[in-house]
Amino acid sequence: MADEVAKALAAQPGGDTIFGKITRKEIPVKLLYEDEQCIAFPDVAAQAPIHFLVVPKKPISQMSKAEESDAALLGHLMVVAKKCAAEQGLSNGYRLVVNDGPDGGQSVYHIHIHVMGGRQMGWPPG
Ligand code: AMP
Repeated sequence: MADEVAKALAAQPGGDTIFGKITRKEIPVKLLYEDEQCIAFPDVAAQAPIHFLVVPKKPISQMSKAEESDAALLGHLMVVAKKCAAEQGLSNGYRLVVNDGPDGGQSVYHIHIHVMGGRQMGWPPG
């Protein structure tokens, strides 16, 4: 079993997460972007030449727990993802991924968008 899958199966929803600590600036990261609603920073275990995460400051645990009232925030994350992708030079395309729950391979229960690019992506994903 791949490491990332094992981590995802071991992950437990609920409580504070590493992304909570990062959004509160308790753990430093290389900030690619920040506004009042979200931040973006490189993934520590990059799966592509460019791989960063867009994370809301509001700690929604996962996509399946998002509320109707989160719609504007979720849309904002997508717009930030595309702006940061352009800033990172991903002019030939990229992939956005949101993993949800054990089957989706989620390992950190604070919702986030993966932005990956700089290589040809395959389909279907693993
Ligand atoms: P997911 O498996 O979709 O929940 O994604 C969690 C991602 O967070 C993984 O790709 C990890 O490599 C990444 N990650 C975990 N801890 C950190 C950290 N301290 N800084 C940056 N990325 C992290």
